[in-house]
Amino acid sequence: MKKLLLLFSLLFLSIYGFSQNKCGVDAAFTENQKKEFFKIHSKSAQLKSAAVNPSPSNIQSIPLSVYFVRNTDGSFSENKSIDPFYKSIIETNRILSQIGIQFYIENFTYLDNSAWLKPNRGDANHTALLANKTANTVNVWINDGWANFPGNSGFGGVSGVELYDITEATVPHEFGHF
Ligand SMILES: [Zn+2]
Repeated sequence: MKKLLLLFSLLFLSIYGFSQNKCGVDAAFTENQKKEFFKIHSKSAQLKSAAVNPSPSNIQSIPLSVYFVRNTDGSFSENKSIDPFYKSIIETNRILSQIGIQFYIENFTYLDNSAWLKPNRGDANHTALLANKTANTVNVWINDGWANFPGNSGFGGVSGVELYDITEATVPHEFGHF
């Protein structure tokens, strides 16, 4: 377990280290999330084994459900394409290969609703957006950010990953929080 903790500590440090963008997850919340992560996953023999001894035959593959918000008329808003996110997942997987974890996209859904593009975090529109989710996958919501957190590029936690910036500057960092 000590070895596993060390590996994850190193991973967290390396992921937190290189983001230049403004993340919405503050330091105290991050500590709580780490505690929550280990509470949930410390009993997982498969993850523990994959993390301690990563190899091509010992990979923990984790499915993603991606929800991409566009304008109500179906046109793109600030993020013009999902392609940067795909590239960012490749980069995230490159980093996480060190501990035998790989993400893959299982579900992809456009949500055409302008009201969900830039909600206030915690308001009815934000809650309705996050209600789009798939059990037993990591849920990822992409929109134009949050009116009450201007300039923030993303949030990550045990319930999933919310992204405004879908480039490599932010995506691996927020998956680190997850
Ligand atoms: Zn962060």
